[in-house]
Amino acid sequence: MTPDISVIIPIYNEGSNINMLHSRLSTVMQGLALPNGFEFVFVNDGSKDNSLFLVRSLADADPMVRYIDLSRNFGHQIAVSAGLDLARGKAVVIIDADLQDPPELIVPLYHKLKEGYEVVYAKRRSREGESVAKKFTAKLFYRILARITNIEIPVDTGDFRIISRKVVEALRQMPEQNKFLRGQISWIGYRQTFVEYDRSERAGGETGYTYRKMIRLALDGITAFSDAPLKAATLMGFGVSIIAFFVMLYTLYSKFILHDYQPGWPSLMISILFLGGVQLVAVGIIGEYVSRLSANVRRRPLYLIADTNLPQIDNSPIESTN
Ligand code: UDP
Ligand code: MG
Repeated sequence: MTPDISVIIPIYNEGSNINMLHSRLSTVMQGLALPNGFEFVFVNDGSKDNSLFLVRSLADADPMVRYIDLSRNFGHQIAVSAGLDLARGKAVVIIDADLQDPPELIVPLYHKLKEGYEVVYAKRRSREGESVAKKFTAKLFYRILARITNIEIPVDTGDFRIISRKVVEALRQMPEQNKFLRGQISWIGYRQTFVEYDRSERAGGETGYTYRKMIRLALDGITAFSDAPLKAATLMGFGVSIIAFFVMLYTLYSKFILHDYQPGWPSLMISILFLGGVQLVAVGIIGEYVSRLSANVRRRPLYLIADTNLPQIDNSPIESTN
C-alpha cells in the first residue's frame, strides 16, 4: 500500500539525535491521522558512530521505519536522492536529523500541500546557535545565487520541505551527479509556496557540513544553475585586454615619440602578474564547469546501497548450479 507521506531523513553521525527525532516525528505523524499511513526512510550516509545500529533497532521495533544504508559517506544531497529513489509515499518530506528542522512544522507543511501546492518549503525566519561566520556565509551565498541564476531559488531555505509525488518523479528524471536539490526543485516549477519558522540549534552531536562540503555545495549550486562565472571570466579577459592595449600604445608612444623610454621593470612585472592572475582565475572557473561535465559524462551510479529493508531490485550473488 502506498503511504500518504514518506519522511526522508539523511543520517551522518547523528547517534545522539536519532531516538529523540524518531519519537518527535512519530508523535507528529500519528497526529496527522493519515488514512494510508506514513513511512520513515532513514538514509545512513556512512556514519562512523552508532547511528546505523540505532536505526536498525528502530526498524526492528517500529514497522514504519525503513532504512537505506549507503556503502560509504556520499554527502547529504546524495543521501536524500537515495531516499527519493526508494521512498514510496504520495508526498515526501525531507528533514534534517539534528532537530534543527522542527518535526512539528510538518503539520502546516502538509496542510498547505493539500491546498493544491506541489512544493511547500520551510523558510528560515531566524537561525539560532550557529556561528556568525556560518550565518553570514549562508546569507551571502543565497543572495549571490539569487542574483546570478535565472531561476528563482528561494533565499534562506534549506532542504526541509514537503514535495508531491509529481515533483519526486521529476527529480528522479534529472540525471545530474552534482545534486543541488533546492535548485532543482525550483527549476521544476509547478505551484510552490512556503511556511516560515525559527531554526533552532542542533539538538546534539556536531555538524556534518564541514566548510569543504559547504563550498562544494555552493559551487554545485552555482555551476548547475548559472553561467555567470563563465561570463565574468570572459568579461574580465576583455577588460584586461583593453587595459593592456592602452598600456601598449603608451609604451610605443614613449619609446618612439618621446624617446624617453625607461626599461620599465615595475610595469612589466605588474602586467605579467596581473594577466597571469586573471588567466588563472578564468581557467579555474572553466575548470569548475569542466570537472562537472566530466562527472556527468562518466555516468557512475550516484550511490551504492549496502543494505536496506525497502523493496529494491534483487542483486544477490548468482548461485552456481553445478
Ligand atoms: N548529512 C549527511 N551526510 C553528510 C553530512 C550531513 O547525510 O555528509 C546529514 C546530517 O546527518 C543532517 C543533515 O544532513 O541530517 C544536515 O547536516 P548538518 O546538520 O550537519 O548541516 P548544517 O545544519 O550544519 O548545515
Ligand atoms: Mg544541522
